[in-house]
Amino acid sequence: MRRSLGSTILACAIALATVAGAAPSPKRAPPPPSKSVGAPNKGHLENGVRVEPTPYLRILGAYAAGDVRYGTRELVDAIDRAAREVHRRFPEAQLGVGQLSKKGGGNIERHHSHESGRDADLGFYLVDALGRPLLRDSFHSIRENGIATSDPSVRFDDGRNWALVAALASDPHAHVTHIFVATHLRTRLLAYGAKIGAAPAVRQRVADLLMQPKHALPHDDHFHVRVACPANSAECVEFPVVAQPKKAKQAKPPKAHAEPERAEVAKASPKAQPSPHKITRARSTGKVKPEPIAVTPTQEDDAPYP
Ligand SMILES: [Zn+2]
Repeated sequence: MRRSLGSTILACAIALATVAGAAPSPKRAPPPPSKSVGAPNKGHLENGVRVEPTPYLRILGAYAAGDVRYGTRELVDAIDRAAREVHRRFPEAQLGVGQLSKKGGGNIERHHSHESGRDADLGFYLVDALGRPLLRDSFHSIRENGIATSDPSVRFDDGRNWALVAALASDPHAHVTHIFVATHLRTRLLAYGAKIGAAPAVRQRVADLLMQPKHALPHDDHFHVRVACPANSAECVEFPVVAQPKKAKQAKPPKAHAEPERAEVAKASPKAQPSPHKITRARSTGKVKPEPIAVTPTQEDDAPYP
């Protein structure tokens, strides 16, 4: 049977389309977006992204145990971009990363926040007395004079630390809301920014972000960076949970054997207690004295430990 040229072309086209349909080109589905659920101090993380070492970023050994290095994609990407920018300007620079969140988020020891994938601890860039970069495996507390408390040969590197906070503050995609750091280091960094003639808008933005958290020891050995709720996380709560003052209970008569004195943060049992609440139980009387933890956007209650 003879076929016309037109029908032959049509048949070929159908055959090709069939083949193409049978074997679609291998296209990877994009990774699911990260979800930050709940508040920084009472929440969890879905589809978190793990921070991985690069030539400009390393994981500090002292905080590597437990694999606490997951965050929202937005947080991890923001850290990556900032570290890369510092490395571009200072080729030997390597940012030391401490802890973020666990893979699924939730409570972690020694942190009050870091639960929902929006918090990260970043080590300071350090130099020796001659200004040569130092790579240490843990955080170092820095005094007002820029020298480490534990080792006078270790110094705060104003240039690279300024470059880091300026990069985080200037990144239009990062949505950084806080960079917690001790007041004397905030002052030091802002003075450095003024000295080098950084743009006033950048200095102002850095000034707005840097702050010493209240209810915590001075953050003098690392930056604690927090980003805003990601756009796709409807269940994300922007600010830390504020503990409500517990209704004053009338004192019960003291027990014969009162509990030893202790301060504890009653943790997060979703059913029993909707928010963390610090309770001090006095030894002598057994009275319960509620101490509300007031937390506002500028009153961070990160744990004393980084
Ligand atoms: Zn922290």
